[in-house]
Amino acid sequence: MKSHAQAVVIGGGVVGCSVLYHLTKAGWKDVVLIERSELTSGSTWHAAGGFHTLNGDPNVAKLQAYTIGLYKEIEEISGQSCGLHLTGGLQLAGTAERMEWLKMAKARGRYLGMDLDIITPAEAKELLPLIDESHFVGALWDPIEGHLDPSGTTHAYAKSARIGGAEIVLRNRVTELVQNEDGTWQVVTEQGTIHAEHVVNAGGLWAREVGRMVGLELPVLAMEHMYVLTEDMPEVAEINRTTGKEVVHAIDFEGEIYIRQERGGMLMGTYEKACRPWSPRQAPWSFGQELLVPDLDRIAPSLEVGFSHFPAFERAGIKQIINGPFTFAPDGNPLVGPVQGLRNFWCACAVMAGFSQGGGVGLALSNWMVDGDPGFDVWAMDVSRFGGWATLAYTNAKVKENYSRRFSIRFPNEELPAARPIQTTPLYDRMVAQGAVMGDSWGLETPLWFAPEGVEPKDIVSFRRSNDFPHVKAEVLAVRERVGVTEIANFAKYEITGPGAEAWLSRLMTNRMPRTGRIVLTPMLNEAGKLIGDFTIAKVADDRFYMFGSSQAQVYHMRWFERHLPADGSVRIEALGMKLVGLSIAGPKARDVLARLTDEDVSAKAFPFMAFREMDLAAVPAKVGRITYTGDLGYEIWVSPEYERRLYQKIMEAGEEFGIVNFGMRALLSMRLEKNFPTWYRELRPIYGPFEAGLDRFVDLSKNDFIGLEAASRENADGPRLKRVTFVVDADDADVIGDEPIWHDGEVVGWVTSGGYAHYVDASLAQGYVPAKLANGGGGAFEIEIIGERRPVTVQHEPLFDPEGLRMRG
Ligand SMILES: Cc1cc2nc3c(=O)[nH]c(=O)nc-3n(C[C@H](O)[C@H](O)[C@H](O)COP(=O)(O)OP(=O)(O)OC[C@H]3O[C@@H](n4cnc5c(N)ncnc54)[C@H](O)[C@@H]3O)c2cc1C
Repeated sequence: MKSHAQAVVIGGGVVGCSVLYHLTKAGWKDVVLIERSELTSGSTWHAAGGFHTLNGDPNVAKLQAYTIGLYKEIEEISGQSCGLHLTGGLQLAGTAERMEWLKMAKARGRYLGMDLDIITPAEAKELLPLIDESHFVGALWDPIEGHLDPSGTTHAYAKSARIGGAEIVLRNRVTELVQNEDGTWQVVTEQGTIHAEHVVNAGGLWAREVGRMVGLELPVLAMEHMYVLTEDMPEVAEINRTTGKEVVHAIDFEGEIYIRQERGGMLMGTYEKACRPWSPRQAPWSFGQELLVPDLDRIAPSLEVGFSHFPAFERAGIKQIINGPFTFAPDGNPLVGPVQGLRNFWCACAVMAGFSQGGGVGLALSNWMVDGDPGFDVWAMDVSRFGGWATLAYTNAKVKENYSRRFSIRFPNEELPAARPIQTTPLYDRMVAQGAVMGDSWGLETPLWFAPEGVEPKDIVSFRRSNDFPHVKAEVLAVRERVGVTEIANFAKYEITGPGAEAWLSRLMTNRMPRTGRIVLTPMLNEAGKLIGDFTIAKVADDRFYMFGSSQAQVYHMRWFERHLPADGSVRIEALGMKLVGLSIAGPKARDVLARLTDEDVSAKAFPFMAFREMDLAAVPAKVGRITYTGDLGYEIWVSPEYERRLYQKIMEAGEEFGIVNFGMRALLSMRLEKNFPTWYRELRPIYGPFEAGLDRFVDLSKNDFIGLEAASRENADGPRLKRVTFVVDADDADVIGDEPIWHDGEVVGWVTSGGYAHYVDASLAQGYVPAKLANGGGGAFEIEIIGERRPVTVQHEPLFDPEGLRMRG
């Protein structure tokens, strides 16, 4: 074994081997993989080996498509077969809602160039004679689905990596990781120590334990998973004989099962409701290539449904039940990337669909390690998407919820209950007492909407407009006509101090920094000139700034900030988290409410739009910015949590004569739509440039050099390729929810980023990106596909509400 390497990959499952292969492909030859036992000996060896492209997130779907395309490549390089069986697959719908979900999945697939078909139960029966079609209302057919040999595939990656120069050391456990002062690592193993510049945690079933070696508690948990293998079945033989093909794959959502052919019989797997974690606190190092004891009782309810939906199974003998563990993050997506606060430590963990995602994970991580950027939009699997609130117990509760809902529909207005509430503000009880329906905003309970007296504070989940519609509308009207107050504790807040603060911020951000007492809005770019942040920055002194952004991206942003902090200590940045909470008041009477809380002059002249002041409000020390996301006259007020109840009480008292109301996140998001404001993570993501996003006025190409300047200048000079556009949708009872295809003259030209109903202007709106030449008047007709129906839409260049911004500037 070498004593030095550029990178050490811990773990020889399908994921570690993929990372190793991709590192060699990217030019890193001095790389070593250390495996505790034999290759595949974690969760990989007993996998069912299924793969598919479909995913709720189109960016992850792209990486899945990449993974499937890779198998031919590694077979050719290694000479090792992956044992591919490309059978095609059916997703069977037993309810009308599932059918709607499939239509939306088909629509999402269009933009990715996927060849998906919605078919009838009779057509499904032709493709898969094993079904009793009376249980189904339709299906989705995907020709790019199948299964492979998990062991062959892992060895194909490993052999390809070896050919590329990598070393693989087996039967050697990594026991300790010690970081040197220069950020490199001592990787202590049973066979000696390797000095490595980078370490990758691809520990699979032991990813959490490997994380603990460096003081991390990664949000990952292994769950037991069972599938049944039948004896040979005459029905299978008959299908093989008459079609000349294997039996196609199928997912039966209502039965929570998947099936495929395995030799002359069938395999039936299930994500049972009564699921069970494996080693919820500590995975034993002694666990070898072994299986867990099957528990037929646990999966019996699913099998019963399966047997009635696929009657031939009832007659088949069961040959074996496989029960093996594999890992999940709380949302079921992988944990990939560098870890905030740790140098040169990388994660490739919680990959629950290793054979659909392993290639994409390897590619993204190796790009990140070699070039400093994953090269794609990997937000959905970025390890930074969880905060410190994702503790061991939280993770365990959420993973169980996610597992048991693997085949359940997640509606756009559906909030999942496990491990909640985990974080609350001091106003939580008061909000709930006033009918607030709460949502989870990066682990923090946040009011979504308020049920008036006599109305149950509960969402009826749906793809269509739901029971909150009239109540959100009432909140919007009250804000636009009078005044409203909402909690904004769920924003990320940062304090930046030090003599170098201004120069540092200016180097990171595209906009000029504000004068003291003023605010600017500014995007942040990576070196490739793509959007990696969007902030509100206020200057309170030469060496002190406050910055506000998306809470979901707080760890993601802190990772970036820390990477770029000067070594001389001249700049300090702190993510304030719950040290600062906030309320926003908005609407034409907002100034009157504020004036009643202070003796200071808050007139339009003295406290104009985009001003920021530290002042006492009703004796509470506060930081106040004259800005709101509603696009109306309004203020964001930030205070320490111990003052929040008093501030809220005083605002409600002062606002009483103006008819103040509570409003929630849904009303806020509705109001931002009618102002054409974008949101982080939907419109603003690392796949778009600032000019594509229409943020031109926040990018100052003539100021000092900033990260991404060169690329942004190029984007500006060449003209953006895409353009963010707002559409007015001719909708009936369903608005867009995001990821719907945008059609132009019968061709799919883009996808929707977000949208919904804009209550004040009474319009269904959608935002999305289309080729720039079409946005700027290419002629022709646009349509957006909502739940399988193409609705006419028109481009809306100006905001429908207050296009000149008179209200917010007034
Ligand atoms: C019953 C079952 C069915 C499944 N079906 C499918 C399917 O159809 N399709 C699909 O895509 N996925 C399926 N999976 C999931 C799939 O198995 C995983 O996604 C995949 O195995 C994850 O691979 P990995 O490399 O991350 O982890 P693992 O396979 O667990 O690999 C991690 C490796 O790291 C090694 N290791 C850990 N710690 C150390 C250390 N300290 N030192 C040295 N080595 C270490 C371990 O020995 C292990 O070999 C299934 C899983 C199960 C259990």
